[in-house]
Amino acid sequence: MKLFIIILGVITLLGCGSAGGKFSLELPSARVETRSEPGAQELLEETRVVILGTGTPIPDAYRAGPGIAVVHKGETYLFDAGAGTVRNATVARYRYDIPSLYPTQICCAFITHMHSDHTLDLMELGYTMWWRRREGLKLWGPAGMGEMVAGMKATMLPDTRIRSSGTQPMPNATGNQIDFVEIEEGVLFQKDGLTITAFPVNHGDIKPAFGFKVVTPDKSVVISGDTAYSERLIEEARGVDILLHEVISEAGLGKTTAFWQSYHKKAHTTSVDVGRVAMLAKPGLLVLYHGLYYGTPEEDVISEVRRIFDGPVVLANDLDVF
Ligand SMILES: [Zn+2]
Ligand SMILES: [Zn+2]
Repeated sequence: MKLFIIILGVITLLGCGSAGGKFSLELPSARVETRSEPGAQELLEETRVVILGTGTPIPDAYRAGPGIAVVHKGETYLFDAGAGTVRNATVARYRYDIPSLYPTQICCAFITHMHSDHTLDLMELGYTMWWRRREGLKLWGPAGMGEMVAGMKATMLPDTRIRSSGTQPMPNATGNQIDFVEIEEGVLFQKDGLTITAFPVNHGDIKPAFGFKVVTPDKSVVISGDTAYSERLIEEARGVDILLHEVISEAGLGKTTAFWQSYHKKAHTTSVDVGRVAMLAKPGLLVLYHGLYYGTPEEDVISEVRRIFDGPVVLANDLDVF
């Protein structure tokens, strides 16, 4: 509960609750971030989770596609890159004064599965002002990532050729390089006390699909990605500080056709089942994202979860920070 209060405090302080709400903070325009390494203050900050996108494949005026940033020791680790997450990263960079969230500073991205709502902004991330990237993007994702990276490189070739062969100054001529790893379960990455682990989840017949666990000296976070009820996720999330979990409204699902009910039950987790997951895993805070509601009011979705789970739960909005 203490954590929740801190979040609300930050939101109130900044006068902003969601991407759809009003906010009074003046953000700079067209400023180029040129830092070559994390500043001293960044190294002192505690680990922060910045919500860059909470949406689904459905275009939404208030929600970018799924994207969660974990900021640790002056680096941003991005988990999924749904449409609009990179734009929101720029807003969050200034709203919360986190330089590593500036797009050309984001070092690393981890993709849960290859559904387009989780990958559409990878191109944006890898190529936004790539000639001023601190380093080329490093990418971890399931089988198919190599094919996608090759496709992005081919698509951007006319641009990289023009910029590389003209007179334009190129502070980083290799900033368009994208290094990738096609992942399996296990530890993927370790740096400065942070460890990122991938584990398989159950996204119906979409395979492979992973969840991620991020552990730093001051915070443990599990990100579900897209999954139906998953015993493995419960094991990984047991006692973590923050569990970010996808959700589909139980009442909302009941309004859909038999086909969609059957599909979603195999691929996603109903609000009541998210409650069951949280009741067993007992996270310090349950954060709902990637929500499909079918017209069910958001407060009702929270109530559906609370029928089973009586711990702290919030429904995330884009640009929330934890
Ligand atoms: Zn999805
Ligand atoms: Zn999916």
